[in-house]
Amino acid sequence: MKYADIIIDISHERLDKTFEYIVPDELEEQVTEGVQVVIPFGNGNRGITGYVVGLHDKPGYDVTKLKPIARVVRDSIAIENQLISLAAFLKRNYGSTMNQALKTVIPIKKKENEKLKKEISLAVSVEKATIELNELLTNKRHAIGKERLLKELLKVDVLDWELATKKLQIPSANIRDLESKGIVQIQSVRTFRNPHMNTLSGDKRIVLNDEQEAAAEQIKGDIDTGRHKTYLIHGVTGSGKTEVYMEVMEHVISMGKQIIVLIPEIALTYQTVMRFYTRFGDKVSILNSRMSPGERFDQFERAKSGEISIMVGPRSALFTPFNNLGLIIIDEEHEPSYKSEVVPRYHARETAIYRASLTNATVILGSATPSLEAYSRAIAGEYQLIKLNNRAQGQDMANCEIVDLRAELQSGNRSMLSRRLKELMADRLQKKQQIMLFLNRRGLMGFVSCRACGHVLKCPHCDVALHLHSGGVMKCHYCGFTTKAARVCPSCGSKYIGSFKAGTQRLEEIVKETFPGTRVLRMDADTTSGKNGHEEILSAFAAHEADVLIGTQMIVKGHDFANVTLVGIIAADISLNESDYHSGERTFQLLTQAVGRAGRGAEPGIAVIQTYQPENYAVVTSANQDYDSFYKQEYAYRKLLSYPPCSHILGIQVSSEKQQDAIAQADILVQVIKHADSKIIIMGPEDAYISKLKDVYRRVIYLKANDYDRLVNVKDAIDKFLLEQKEYRSTTTWFDFDPISTI
Ligand code: ADP
Ligand code: ZN
Ligand code: ZN
Repeated sequence: MKYADIIIDISHERLDKTFEYIVPDELEEQVTEGVQVVIPFGNGNRGITGYVVGLHDKPGYDVTKLKPIARVVRDSIAIENQLISLAAFLKRNYGSTMNQALKTVIPIKKKENEKLKKEISLAVSVEKATIELNELLTNKRHAIGKERLLKELLKVDVLDWELATKKLQIPSANIRDLESKGIVQIQSVRTFRNPHMNTLSGDKRIVLNDEQEAAAEQIKGDIDTGRHKTYLIHGVTGSGKTEVYMEVMEHVISMGKQIIVLIPEIALTYQTVMRFYTRFGDKVSILNSRMSPGERFDQFERAKSGEISIMVGPRSALFTPFNNLGLIIIDEEHEPSYKSEVVPRYHARETAIYRASLTNATVILGSATPSLEAYSRAIAGEYQLIKLNNRAQGQDMANCEIVDLRAELQSGNRSMLSRRLKELMADRLQKKQQIMLFLNRRGLMGFVSCRACGHVLKCPHCDVALHLHSGGVMKCHYCGFTTKAARVCPSCGSKYIGSFKAGTQRLEEIVKETFPGTRVLRMDADTTSGKNGHEEILSAFAAHEADVLIGTQMIVKGHDFANVTLVGIIAADISLNESDYHSGERTFQLLTQAVGRAGRGAEPGIAVIQTYQPENYAVVTSANQDYDSFYKQEYAYRKLLSYPPCSHILGIQVSSEKQQDAIAQADILVQVIKHADSKIIIMGPEDAYISKLKDVYRRVIYLKANDYDRLVNVKDAIDKFLLEQKEYRSTTTWFDFDPISTI
C-alpha cells in the first residue's frame, strides 16, 4: 500500500501543509508526484482537487483515519499541473525536497499585507489650486507643509506619499487636512506597472539581413508544421540574434501563445529591455531580482490572467505561469547565472527544455560563445544548430592583437598598459573615438597579506581572505565580519603588510596619469552599488561623456557602443588560473565577448589582449574569434579527463557547525554511495573549496558517471538513508549536479 501527501491550495504560503491519503491499488500506476487528484475532504466528504507532492510506503498517521484518493484528474492542463510537474522534475534531477522545489516554481502569496504605495494628486483644477495656494500665503502663520505640497502638485501631476512625507517632510496631517477639504486626493496604487512604460517610442522596424531571415524562417516554418525543437543560434557578436528572436516572437504571439525570454541579470539593462518594449509594447513585463516577492507575485498574476504575454527576466522568469506557453528563449545561453546557487541547484537550460516539452513549446538558445554542453548537443543533432556568421550590417570583426607581457616586462615596462596598447590609446583619444578597458577581477586582488612572510589575513569565521576597505577596516566578503586593518603581520611581526589595490581602481589612476585630461568612467562592484548605478554609467558613456570606460566582466555584456574602436584586455590570464575545469571556457567567453565590443559602428575596431600566456589555446582562439577550434580543443580536454559534457559530476556537500560531525557524516555517506553503486567513481571526501563559512564546516564528495541517471540513483539512495538516519542530525547535506564552480 502507498500513501500520498496532497496539497490543496498551492498558492498558500505554507506549502508544507499537506494531507495524507491512501493510494488505492488500482490507482497506484497513475498516481505519481505532480498529478492532480480528486479527494474526499471535510465533513461532507465533498470531492475537491489537490496535487500529489509526495509518496511513501509507510503511513504517517493512524491508517484507520485515512481516506483513499477518489480518482486521478485526466488531461487537465491547468498551469498548476505544469508547475508541479516542473517541481517534481527539479526534485528528481537536482536533488531537494518537494517542498523546496515547489517554493522554487510557485510564486507564493505573502500573507503579511504588502505596503500599498500611495500617491497624492490634485482633486481640483490647477486654477483652483493656485487660488487656494495664494489664500494660504496671505495667512502669515500658514502651515508650511501645505504650501510645499500645493506648490509641488502644481509642478507634477502625482506625488509619491513616501516622497512627500519623507523627502519633502510634509506632515501627513497637512495632507489629510487638504484631503478633507477636497483639494487633494490620496490613492492607493498597486505598484506593478512597468516603470519604463511612458518612455515607449514608436516602432522602428529593422529589416532582417539574409542570414537572420533564413534563421527566423526556419524556426517559424518548423513551428507552423507542428515541429517543436530546441535550437541553438550560434551567432558572432553583433550578428543580430535579438532581431531573430523578436521575429519568431511576433509569430508566436500572433498564434495567441506566450513567451518567456531569459537574459542574464547583468544584461537586464535599459538598452536591452527597451528593445522588447519598443517592439511589443505593454504585452511585455520584466522581472528582476530587485523586486520584492510581492511585486513578483503581481507580475505572475498578470501572466496568469493573460494581461501580458511576454515575460523577460533572469533564471526565475522560467516559472512564469503562462497557460499556453509557445516559446522559451535563453539569450547568452552560456552564462553561469543560469545555474541556481541555492537548492534545488537547477540549470535553466535543461529545465526550460523540460518545461517546453509539457506544452509542445519551442526553445531557442543563443550565444556567440555557446557552452560546451549546448554545442556538443547541437553537433550530436539533439538541438538544431543555426549559425549567424556575419555581423548584422556586415561590419568586420575587430582585428585582434596579442601582446606578450613577459616580453614587455623584459624590456623594462612594468606598467599595466603595454606599449602597443598605449600607442593605440593615444591614437584613439586624438581621433575622439572611445576606448573600453577590461580587467577581469575575479582573481585575488584586494586581499591583505604580508610581503615579508606571505601570510594572508583571514576571516575568523570563514576560510577566506579579508579585503581592505576605505576607513582603515578589513572586511570578509562572505559574512560581513569587519575589523580594524592590521598594522603589523600577526604571523611574523613585519610591518610590510598591505593589500593589492583593486585592479580597476589602480588602472583608472594609471590611465589618468598616462593621458592627463582624459575623461574616465569606471564600472565595477564599487561604483555600481546605487540602484541605477549601471544605467547611469552606461548612458554617460553612450553619450560620450567619457573617453574611456574601465570595467570588470560587467561591461562586456549586451552593450552596443558604436563609437568604441579600441578594446584593451589588461590581463587575460586571471581567469585562466582559476582552479576549476571551466577556466578555459570562461576565459574564451570573456575574451571573445570583450573583443566583440570593438568596431560595432562604422569605424573598424581593434582589440588588444595582454597576456602572460600568449600561446594558450583559449587566448589564441578568442583572438581569432574562432569558436570551432576552441570547441575542438576544449572538448578533447574534457573527454580526456571525463568532465562534463563528456560525463556527469555530482557534488555532495556535508556541513555542520561541528567539524567532527561534518567529517564523520561525509565518511558515512561514502559507504552509502558504495553500497548503492559499487562501481561509481568517488573523489573525496575532502574540505570544500571554502572549508569554513560563517562558522560552518563543509566537506565535499564528488562522483563521476557517464550516465546522469546513475547519479540520480545515488542521490535517491542518500536521501532515503538520511530520512531514516538517527545520528548526526546537526549535519546538512545538499547536492549539486554538474556544478559550474567548485563547491
Ligand atoms: P547580438 O545579440 O547578436 O550581439 P544584436 O541583436 O544586439 O546582436 O544586434 C547588434 C546591433 O545590430 C543592434 O544595434 C541591432 O539593432 C543592429 N541590427 C541587428 N540586425 C540588424 C539589421 N538587419 N539591420 C540593421 N541593424 C541591425
Ligand atoms: Zn608576515
Ligand atoms: Zn567571514
